[in-house]
Order: sequence, then structure tokens, then C-alpha cells
Amino acid sequence: MKYVILMGDGMADHPVAELNGQTPLQAAKTPNLNYLTRNGELGLVKTTPDGCYPGSDVTQLAILGYDPKKHCTGPAPFEAAGLDVALNPDDVAYRCNLVTLRADTGGYDVKKLGPHAIMEDFSAGQIDSLEAKELIYDLNEQIGTEVVQFYAGVSYRHLMVWAEGKHRISASPPQDITAKPVGEYLPKGEGEKVLRALMEAALEVLRDHQINIDRKEAGKPPANAIWLWGQGKAPKLPKLTERYGVSGGIISALDLPRGLGLYCGLDAVKLPGATGYADANYAGKVEAALVELKTKDLVYIHLEAADDASHQGDLQGKVKAIELFDEQMLGPLLKELPKLGSYRILMACNHATPVALRQHTAEAVPYVLFEGPGKEKTGGERGFNEVDAKATRVYVEDAKKLMGRLLRK
Ligand SMILES: [Zn+2]
Repeated sequence: MKYVILMGDGMADHPVAELNGQTPLQAAKTPNLNYLTRNGELGLVKTTPDGCYPGSDVTQLAILGYDPKKHCTGPAPFEAAGLDVALNPDDVAYRCNLVTLRADTGGYDVKKLGPHAIMEDFSAGQIDSLEAKELIYDLNEQIGTEVVQFYAGVSYRHLMVWAEGKHRISASPPQDITAKPVGEYLPKGEGEKVLRALMEAALEVLRDHQINIDRKEAGKPPANAIWLWGQGKAPKLPKLTERYGVSGGIISALDLPRGLGLYCGLDAVKLPGATGYADANYAGKVEAALVELKTKDLVYIHLEAADDASHQGDLQGKVKAIELFDEQMLGPLLKELPKLGSYRILMACNHATPVALRQHTAEAVPYVLFEGPGKEKTGGERGFNEVDAKATRVYVEDAKKLMGRLLRK
């Protein structure tokens, strides 16, 4: 038996007036997803335990069969693993977004973090990885120390490691404070002064950086600030091989899911053409998945594009991302998987990211469990969406049970 987990990051949403009261999953044309839901078990799953933030880390760990409350210290250590940055037991990793702040008087000349600086874009205009790399390199040269180091990741997602650092800090995810003054969302708690000083010093380095001058000239928002959040020390996770006796690989354009997969004992597959945006290289991902399944039991494919469109408030982009996934990834997979023999697919959202809110929510999300080939049992006309999933009245309160069901003998 081969197992495929398809993680539709942030695909779930709410009904939207522009889509005639439908959700993006309802509005998108998804014949392949509909095939899974007609012939599989459709339901809702609660991926965010009470009291947790519906982060990418918490919700994916839940789907992978872990108790996030026990195993999750924060998303940044996973990001570190995805970047091959080893953490010592006393190191604290922080996610370091390159962001765009705007002064409330207009313009990008932000000299101070506070009530007069507005979070315009948590992704600095989805900055290109090569430009970002240069900025992070210069930041590390100028404000990095023996204690604090910066590492470049993909697009706007980067990493800071603070040796023997503080971690009991509340730091807001930048995607949750879009268009808000940043003053009251700055890091609070032990070590807040160090973090704020680093963020202030970064303003200086980035303000007149050539990359930002060029970006502004090209009409793009400058990456004129960093935002530190999502911190944690290295977690300890039992591996999937030990827990379920399965081997597997993780396919993702992003460092965080890749690192999370590594912590779970999956092999990380590097993909040159994958960007995490809607132009994601689906053909390459399908090919890589099939290669993994030749020698391993399981492949976990993380799909970022719908979540990114949601954070950008891009409704049509979200619908398009879902359709592209269905056409260019799920379709080819369903053609090829039967050649490998029996297989099961778990397609799930990790959390909802409603376009209208542009941030994650903790509500239960759709999942479908499908077994093929030749196990089709039509459950009637229904789609992979929030409304049809709720109508089935199948509700999985404890998300980690899904993994057991996927891998049952
Ligand atoms: Zn997100």
C-alpha cells in the first residue's frame, strides 16, 4: 500500500459574496477532487487544539498524527531544519520575515517602529529569493553577532537564531496585522528589548539598501523592515518510522513544511522550480512524488499557493490556485498512482485562511480519505468543500486519529 498526503495549506475559507455566496473551494472547478469526495470519506477535522494558534506548524503536525500541544515549540525550529541550520539545545530560532512598513504620513521612510509605522505587506511584495538573500546577508554582516545570526530562506521567509536566547515572548504573526500600526504588536516578554533593538537596527540597514532603491524604482514595495516571531527551541518528535513503521518523503517549496517533515523522519526532496506561489511547478512535484513512492511508503505534498493568495487578499488567485492544483497535480497523480498498486490518499486543509480576513482561523476544515484503485463507492454528488464536508456530519475531533486511519492495515 502506498500513501499520499496532500496538504492544501489555507484552502478552506468562508462564503464570499463575489462568488455568489460560495467558498473558493466550492467555486473552483475541481473534477479530480470531486472524484475523491464522491468515492471517499469526506468530513471535517479539527486541526487546531483549543488554546493553540492555528499556525502552519501546529495544524500540519496534527494531520501528521502528533499532539501539537505536546510536540510544538513554535514554527521557527522547523524552518531552521528546512534550511539545514542545526540548533543547539539552548538556541532559540525566530522566523524573520522581510516586510514592508509604511509611515502613517505616507511613504516608506520608516525610522522607528511604533504607532506611526503600518504593516503594509508581510511578504515585502513577495520578494524574490535572490534579492532577499542579499538583504539577509547584509543584515547578518551588519547586525549579526556571535550570539545572533541571520539565515536566508525562500522569498520573504527567513530565520534568526539567538544562542542561549529568550523564548517566553509573545510576538504577532506579521500576516495577522496587515494594515495595522505595528506599535502594539511588537515583541513582548523577556528579551523584548533585544528583539526590538534588532528590528530597529534592521530599519537602518534596509532603508537605503541598493536592492530597496531598485525595488522602489521598479514600483515594487521595499523590504524595509524585519519582523521576528514564531520562536522556539528545537522540539523532540518521535519519527513516523518508529510510530507507524512507514518510510516517506516530504515535497514542499517551503522550508517550514520541509523541516517539519524532517523532524517527523521524512526525507526532504529539494525542488528547483517550486516557488510556493500559484506558478508552482506542479509537474515537477508530481514526478518527485512518484519517484519517492517507488522506494518509500508515503509521500507528503505541501501546497502553499492557496494560503499565500489568501494572505494577499487575492480571491481570484486563490480559486485559480485550487484549480491548478486539481488539474496539474491531482489529475496526473490519479492517473499514475494505480500503476503502483493499492494506494490511499488523505487530502486535507491544515487550517482555513479566509480571504476576507487574510489570516488563519481555528475552525474545523475539510478532509477526504480515499482508497484506490477499484475501491470506488459513490457517495453522491459532493465536492471537497466546507459546506459538503459539514453536511456529511463526519467530524474528527482529534486530528491525529486521521493518520492512524490513513495507515490502518
Ligand atoms: Zn498562512
